[in-house]
Order: sequence, then C-alpha cells, then structure tokens
Amino acid sequence: MKLSELSTGQKGVIVKVLGHGGFRKRIVEMGFIKGQEVEVLLNAPLHDPVKYKIMGYEVSLRHTEASMIEIITESEARNKDIANPDTTEENGISVASNNEQDTEFNNLHEEALKKRRIINVALVGNPNCGKTSFFNYASGAHERVGNYSGVTVDAKEGRAEYKGYNFNLIDLPGTYSLSAYSPEELYVRREIIDKTPDVIINVIDSSNIERNLYLTTQLVDMNQRIVCALNMFDEFEERGDKLNYKVLGHLLGVPMIPTVFRTGRGIDELFQTIIDMYEGQDSTFRHIHINHGKDIEEGIDRVKQLIQEDEQIRYKYSTRYLSIKLLENDSHAEEFIKTLTNGNEILKLRDKEAVRIKEECKEDSETAIMNAKYGFIHGALKEAEYQEGNIEDTYQTTHALDKLITNKYLGFPLFFLLLYIMFQVTFSLGQYPMDWIDSMIGALGGRISDTMSDGPLKAMLVDGIIGGVGSVIVFLPQILILYAFISFMEDSGYMARAAFIMDKLMHKMGLHGKSFIPLIMGFGCNVPAVMATRTIESRRSRLITMLILPFMSCSARLPIYIMITSTFFALKYRSAIMISLYVIGIAVAVIMSKVFSRWLVKSEDVPFVMELPPYRFPTSKAILRHTWEKGKQYLKKMGGIILVASIIVWALGYFPHNDKLNQQEQLEQSYIGSIGKVVEPVFKPQGFDWKLSIGLISGVGAKEIVASTMGVLYAGDETVADDEAQDTAKYSNLYRKMSADGVTPLIAFCYLLFVLLYFPCLATIVAIKNESGKWKWAIFTAVYTTATAWCISALVYQTARLFL
Ligand code: GDP
Ligand code: MG
Repeated sequence: MKLSELSTGQKGVIVKVLGHGGFRKRIVEMGFIKGQEVEVLLNAPLHDPVKYKIMGYEVSLRHTEASMIEIITESEARNKDIANPDTTEENGISVASNNEQDTEFNNLHEEALKKRRIINVALVGNPNCGKTSFFNYASGAHERVGNYSGVTVDAKEGRAEYKGYNFNLIDLPGTYSLSAYSPEELYVRREIIDKTPDVIINVIDSSNIERNLYLTTQLVDMNQRIVCALNMFDEFEERGDKLNYKVLGHLLGVPMIPTVFRTGRGIDELFQTIIDMYEGQDSTFRHIHINHGKDIEEGIDRVKQLIQEDEQIRYKYSTRYLSIKLLENDSHAEEFIKTLTNGNEILKLRDKEAVRIKEECKEDSETAIMNAKYGFIHGALKEAEYQEGNIEDTYQTTHALDKLITNKYLGFPLFFLLLYIMFQVTFSLGQYPMDWIDSMIGALGGRISDTMSDGPLKAMLVDGIIGGVGSVIVFLPQILILYAFISFMEDSGYMARAAFIMDKLMHKMGLHGKSFIPLIMGFGCNVPAVMATRTIESRRSRLITMLILPFMSCSARLPIYIMITSTFFALKYRSAIMISLYVIGIAVAVIMSKVFSRWLVKSEDVPFVMELPPYRFPTSKAILRHTWEKGKQYLKKMGGIILVASIIVWALGYFPHNDKLNQQEQLEQSYIGSIGKVVEPVFKPQGFDWKLSIGLISGVGAKEIVASTMGVLYAGDETVADDEAQDTAKYSNLYRKMSADGVTPLIAFCYLLFVLLYFPCLATIVAIKNESGKWKWAIFTAVYTTATAWCISALVYQTARLFL
C-alpha cells in the first residue's frame, strides 16, 4: 500500500521508498526509513500537504510524494498471515499477546521487513545484448531469444529467488538510447519513471562496450540504482580484450559484473550485488554527474535551477535529467514541462541556452550533449585501460561468412537453396513419423468403427474428431522439423542476414527497411509480428507493414500446404511449390506496400542501419526449447479451436441425416452442403467446388481449420486402391476422392494461393485493430486481402487453363 492511501489517524510501517536517487535521499533524510512507524495526523483528500508523525516529529509531504513511499498496515500484515500458512505460528503468538502494543508493532515491523525482501528489477540494454537470455535463465521462463533486434516489444514479467530475496524481473525491449524518437525508447523510459523499479540491470554487450555505455550514461543521468552486467564476457575474453572493469565501475559509480547469460556465469554475483545495493551496502554505487564540459554544464545548471522552482515534479524526475532532456530537444520532456506553472519560462530559457551552446560548441545542443557523452565514455574506458583484442579473430569467421552470405550475387541463390533444403528435409524426413502417426490414427478410427454401434456418436468420433483433428495432427513432425530449422536460422544470426539481403531489394520498392523484422516474424505467426511493428518509428511505415503482414505465410497455413502439395504433386516438385507460395506472398506484399505508400501518404525516406550480429552457434537446448514451445502451441490448438471446428463442420455435414443416402449424397443434402452450394458460385472463376469453398469459410477462425475441414469432408470409407497415382502415394486416398470431385492440380494450386492470400485469421485482425488503434484498418485488411486472393487465384486459374 502507498503512504498516500492512509487516512487520518491510521498507522503504517515503511517498507521502501521508490523513485530516483535524489528524491529517495531527501525523503530518507526526513526520517522515512524502512521499518519506521508513521502515523497520519491529517490527510484531507485532494488537499496538500499531508501531515505525518514519524520518530516523534511532525512532517508534511505532498500526496505525490507520499505515493512514492510503500508501507504496510496492520490489517495488511494480518491478512498476509492468514494467506500465508508459513507464518501462522507467528500469527498465533501475535494473537496470544494481542493486548500488548509492543509485540504487535514488532510483528508489523517484521512483516514490513519481509515485504521489503521483494525487489523489483528492470532489465535495460541494447537490442541483442542478452537481456532475455538472463530473464529466461533466472526466472525459468521461455521467452523468445533471437539473434536479431526487435524480438521483445512488450515487457515480460518473471520471478526469481536468491538468498531469501524475491526478484520481480521485467524484461524490457532493447534500446540504444532513451530519447523520445521511437516507441520502445519511450516505453522503456516510462517503465523506469512510472513503475519505479528498485534496481535496474543494465545489460551490456562487452564486445561492443563503447556503444553500449551510451545508454548507461543516460541511466546515470536519471539517477537510478544501476548494476551493469558485462555480458558476452566469453566472447570478450576469447577475443583477448582487456578492461579493468572495477575501475570503470568506480568511475561511473555503477558496479560492473562480468557475465555469460548463456551459461549462467556471474548470475549469482549479479543477484548478490543487487541485494547489496538495495540494502545500501554496495561500496561501488554512487550517483555521479557525467561531465558534459563547461559550456553545456552551465546550460544544464541554469535550466535545472528554474525547473527546481516547481517543487511538484521533484518527486518524480531528477531535475538534472529533465534539464538535459530539454537541451536535447526531447519532445516528451517538453510536453511535460509545459504542464508546469513556469513551463513557458523554462522553455524560453532552454531556447536561449541552446543558442548559446550552439555558438560556443559549433554544433547544436543535442549533438553536443551526445558527443560529450561519448567523450566521457572514451575517457573512462582509457582510464580503465580498455584495449580491444584481436577483433579479426572472432569476427574473422563472421566476416568470411558474411562475404558469402550477403554477397550481391550469391546471397539470394544461397537463401533459396537454404529454403529448398529446409523444405526438402521437412518433407522427406517428416514422412516417417507422419506415417506412424497416420497409421496410429487409422488404427484408432478402425477400432472405434469396429466396436461401436452405428449412430451419430460414432460418426462424430470417427468422421468429425478423428477425421478433422487427425488430419491436422499428422503434420506435427513436419512442423517441428521446420521450426527446428527456423530456430537455428534465427539463433545463429542468419535471419538477420536474410533480412539484410531482402532489405536492399525491398527498399527499392518503397518499403521501410526496419519493417523487416516484423515481416520475417510473420512467417512464424502474424499476431506477434503485428505487435512487433511497434519498433518502427514512422507511423506511416508501421501502418503499411501491418497491412501487408498477412501475406507473410504463417505456419498455421502449413498443414493445408503440406496436405495439398503432397496430395497433388510428386515429391520432387513439392519444395518448389512450397517456395513459390512463400515467394508469391512476398511479391504481393511488396506490390501492395508500393501501392499503399503512394496512395496513403507521400513518400518519406528514413535512413536505417540493419544490425548484423556476429554468428553464434546456437545451443541445442535453445533450439529444442523453441521447437517444443511451438509444438506445444500446435497441440493446444488441436485440443481447442481445431477440435471445436471439426465437430461443428462434421455436425453441419451430418444433419439433417438420412440413412438411405450414400456418403456423397448425404453431404450434398446436409446443412453444409446447402451453405456450400450458396457460396460455390462466388468461387466459380477459381474452379473451387462447394467443399473447397467450405474449407475457406471455416479457415476464417484459424488457418489450420482449412486442413481439418478437408479432413472431415473427405473422411470415410477408403475406396479400393487402383494402382494409379502411386507417385503421390501417401495421400492417394485423398487424391482419388478429390479428383473424383474434379479437383485438378491447377485448381489445387489456386486453392493454395487463395489460402495464402486471403483473410489472415481473427486473432491477426484483432491485433491489427489494437496496434493501429482503429477498426477501420482491421476491416480494411480483412477486405482487401480477401479481394486480392480472389482476383489473383481467378487470374491464375483462368490464364493457366488456356495453356493446360
Ligand atoms: P536481448 O535482445 O537483449 O533480449 O538478447 P537475447 O537474450 O535475445 O540474446 C541475443 C543472442 O545472444 C542470443 O543468440 C543468445 O543466445 C546470445 N547470448 C546471450 N548471452 C550471451 C553470452 O553471455 N555469451 C554469448 N556468446 N552469447 C550470448
Ligand atoms: Mg529480448
């Protein structure tokens, strides 16, 4: 509970004081120390200040200030006793000596100390420095780590324990700085200022220390309690870099701890340091002022003096930090300052100082501050005897590989070769476990058929559930293999290269470079990909990226791709068909983005640097875990939406039931038959019959349902094999049934095209609504993708028919 929430006459015991260092110091100096009892003498709501009694003195605070002090009250302590059986014994004692005031206070005191043992820790650092690796290692979570930036866009929370302390860990998106330019930078700033973590872990990629320390200097400005994790220390050592990190820590007033989050090295020490710092026992930690040079410092001081006149904000912001931000022309700080009574005055002074700095430093204040910070870092590193080892050594392989992989001529063929190998292995290797699962499902269906008496229940089990869910679940091995490949490409750093080589091409066609990470993520699942568009600074590019994302073929579409390609095409063509789908998706996305960028807003070109992290050989554990996570998701979907959809599709096909008809006639006269017949004309130009049409409609919920629906609609008696079509061996049964319905390979391919391009799925549409903030864009996406799918598949069918 917050101190500000106590009403007149109530008492509490102080747990901790939140906020930046300057504020904490002032409050602690007033006597608000952990474990002290406070009594509210007078708290009128909406009336400042509030009067408190602490250590026998009367002091007054503002509401805003009191809201930064965490306390525990008697009733909270009691509730906790009841809720927590561990402490019932103590509770017994406290009840026994209920009338003794002293004991009761002692109990409260103890509770306060216990509660104090929860430390809120935020992870801040550049993209790709290992924050999520630490988060996963420490909390046992399974968040995605990827060897490219922009993977974490949301804050993730997790818990860890060390030496009786509980840590609330928050994994934040990666940022290079804390300016107001990109959404994730603002997001991290807000997390730090509004959520006031007790300690910040600043994760640093030590093989890139100079650039990483830039963010550290900004955190220092904010006057936060920081611990630096010098991560990737294995690479640092391997390269033979030298650094006296103790000296560097002393210079910055921040403890520095070498870590390797991949193996867990240094994590205990890191936790110990956090505890020490939190308890005020760390000797390294102190608040320093980064010296920006005389001219800038003068400006910072003057602006700060004026900001300080308003006592209101001192509880929240370090005034020095605000002053620096103003001189950096930070739009967000400006807006905040405008809310102050003397806001305009402050901004006027800022403008004056900025002009003066520009005259004296020969560069604008923003650049001057940045240069000063880098100067400071450079100096500090010199003093700490920083020496880069043989960069070539570790980067040699990376450079050599990059020469090949990002080569102008070789890059693309290699990329497609890799894709080809990936699909080929998926198909050929996946065939075996697929056959096993298939025969198991067949046996299960057969057993139920033999033992149960005929009727709707049996039909539902065999044709509905086993037919529907079974037809999707057989693809599990192939999906797992594919995911193992994709995980490998991501973790090793290849995906960043793939984005890099595609970037050049796409840039020419009017798409923003930074859109690439979301687009590539889209191959996995469109929903997190839509969320990942937050990392794009320009609103226009963000919107366009969201709109074209559904063309990135997500993995939910795989079952139907695999089903149809392995039914209609010989093994040697399958990979090519699969790749062609992906390529067509990308091509349509590019064309659409070009159309949108011309049509929505006029072009704007933002320069952009694509990070190329060094190649790392991924740990098999990480790959297995990623793969398994996906597999789990897949299975969960089977038990949920796919199961429900299969039953619904089956029921619509079973009722109204007529025993005298054969299966084909029964389906035709059922509800689903009638629905199918109604929509069939819509898909006439594509040559889809009513069963295919039903599949498309059912796929609106989730794309896997297209496959499970096919499974239900084509379930039932195995027709006797004639030796035709043995090439497409596995699905020959499906093949026979579908070709009996007049489905040709051309129609099948057009069907895949339609599945690729049309309405993504409900979850994606909702995500687009949330990220763009408007239903308008979500509905637009739903409509235009479906229209595109309709036109393209009709065009392909009608054109190809002329030649085949
Ligand atoms: P984040 O973007 O900061 O969350 O970084 P991630 O946790 O996703 O890690 C980025 C990459 O660095 C992954 O490929 C990790 O396996 C790798 N990585 C993380 N910590 C270390 C480390 O200490 N040493 C080495 N060599 N690699 C690491
Ligand atoms: Mg991350």
